[in-house]
Amino acid sequence: MMKVNLISLGCPKNLVDSEVILGKLGQAGYALTSSSKDADIIIINTCSFIDKARSESYEVISRLACQKSSLQKLIICGCLPQLEKRGLFLKYPQIDALLGSADFYRIEEVVGQLFNGESRLFLVNEPCFLYDSSFPRLLSTPSSYAYLKIAEGCSNRCSYCLIPELRGKYRSREPKDVVKEAKALVNLGVKELILIAQDTTFYGWDLGKKSSLLWLLEKLEKIDKLKWIRLLYTHPLHFTFPLIRMIADSKKICRYIDLPLQHTHNKILARMKRPRFELAEKLVAKLREDIPGVTLRTTFLVGFPGETKEHFNKLLKDIERLRFEWLGAFTYSSEKGTSAYSLTPRIPSKVKERRYRELMELQQSITSGFNRAKVGKIYPLLVDKKAEGHTEFQAPEIDGKVFLSKKHLPGELFQGKISQVKDCYDLVEG
Ligand code: SF4
Repeated sequence: MMKVNLISLGCPKNLVDSEVILGKLGQAGYALTSSSKDADIIIINTCSFIDKARSESYEVISRLACQKSSLQKLIICGCLPQLEKRGLFLKYPQIDALLGSADFYRIEEVVGQLFNGESRLFLVNEPCFLYDSSFPRLLSTPSSYAYLKIAEGCSNRCSYCLIPELRGKYRSREPKDVVKEAKALVNLGVKELILIAQDTTFYGWDLGKKSSLLWLLEKLEKIDKLKWIRLLYTHPLHFTFPLIRMIADSKKICRYIDLPLQHTHNKILARMKRPRFELAEKLVAKLREDIPGVTLRTTFLVGFPGETKEHFNKLLKDIERLRFEWLGAFTYSSEKGTSAYSLTPRIPSKVKERRYRELMELQQSITSGFNRAKVGKIYPLLVDKKAEGHTEFQAPEIDGKVFLSKKHLPGELFQGKISQVKDCYDLVEG
């Protein structure tokens, strides 16, 4: 039996594509191995939305290309081939096939052709494919949770972002099909479904059905054994009042909202082609007021062209004032093909890195205060691994986790008392 080793880089959206690749190959009779040395086929599903992601992709490709034997096949999928096209063949003579971000579903056919003697296969097309529930998926997350990709691509056109280039226009999946997949995942034992897309709150808008997300959440709530539903990657422009009410009233939708804002200074937001800060500010206040105990996560981008000390200081002040429980940050990466590419003045790397560190230090004190306030309290804990789990206010793999005092069965949901904070981000139960 031929063996496949797959390395998935980047975000959970890419991970779902990797799971479909493995599902397809598994169905076709290939076995999975965690060792690239043992594998007949090595697949790297890449990320390339900013320079750091690209460097990681290149580093992994270089390492495996050097190790690869003449009998092994090396296939590179995802956003890097979508961006670099055939240039990757020139850089790495060891690569046997390139598959674009929306061509990965043809993996089985590509592998077959490679073992039939063909080489240097290139399948990078306009990204328009959308998977559905008929595609097999081999879950790589712990059995307690799974990602549910409700749409692909993005039509928002933020000036710094390559995603619309790499992933195409926003395309919502058919709601009934998403429910079908959700039920199948719950039947496998999954207790938490994490809804993902480039912008989950835009779900259905591309089809003229703005209430699709509400419809979908209502149906998901009715799935018996499903305990938690979590929404990642929301957008301030598309967050509706009925959605806030639904989260507030729901027993299953986590009181946790991921709302990437990117900046708080209107001059920078205008250059980013993002909504004005007043909109986000009002939304944050409404979320805090209408959903008692809600946990908010956001993402900011520092060092955008033209970001002055004054703009950055405003960002710090707003972070201190709005007190997001969780926060991630990126330093701006200038991407050819985006409208921000020509913007000046560019911020020197050292300044970007210093701002990033300053921002994260500030956030560390906010997050650790938030975590310290949990000590001594009892919360439902979902077990992910024997002695590890997470709460409603922690997105797995993104925020902190909870170390459990005893071993439990993955997927078990129990009431646990938080006894301490570990390294600022994690909690200890028992
Ligand atoms: S909403 Fe997100 S994915 Fe879409 S263009 Fe803006 S940053 Fe990129």
